[in-house]
Amino acid sequence: DTIDVTKLVNSIIDRYELVSNRDMIVFHRDIPDQTTFATVDRDKLIQVLDNILSNAVKYSPEGGRISILLGEGEKHFKISVSDEGVGIPKESLPQIFERFYRVDKARSRKLGGTGLGLAIAKQIVVAHGGSIWVDSEWNVGTTITLTLPYSVEKVVGFNG
Ligand code: ATP
Ligand code: MG
Repeated sequence: DTIDVTKLVNSIIDRYELVSNRDMIVFHRDIPDQTTFATVDRDKLIQVLDNILSNAVKYSPEGGRISILLGEGEKHFKISVSDEGVGIPKESLPQIFERFYRVDKARSRKLGGTGLGLAIAKQIVVAHGGSIWVDSEWNVGTTITLTLPYSVEKVVGFNG
């Protein structure tokens, strides 16, 4: 189906804004007024953004700022989520999209989770012909960026 990506992204942020209120997390939107339409699996896109935003919230300090950017390219649109959280050490960056991988087991256990969120997000994005990557600095913050084609001909290699 063709969906309104702008509306979808805004509504997911609205939801996180409500639940993150007590942690005083501030959401900043860099989202154009002009609507971005795309023919993608709506539920899967929600799942991807849920995983990324839940991480941003989970690994942010009280009062941290989370910035969400939506941008349009020629064939792809781009969504990035930046936080001012704990960050990811350089040596862990290549592994964070692997199943069950979690940085700092002790800290992660306290925060909860299975280490599957980003692996699932990557599987979905790649199946849609897009890409996803991380930029992060330990103790500074993390940015997760993904690109997806406006139109997915056929979703390949995804079962679930
Ligand atoms: P789950 O998503 O299954 O609940 P999780 O959040 O631990 O568990 P992933 O979302 O796959 O797992 O993330 C893998 C690991 O990457 C996390 O455990 C965490 O160490 C690190 N990570 C992911 N996003 C961030 C972020 N925004 N800031 C800091 N570390 C992050
Ligand atoms: Mg997660």
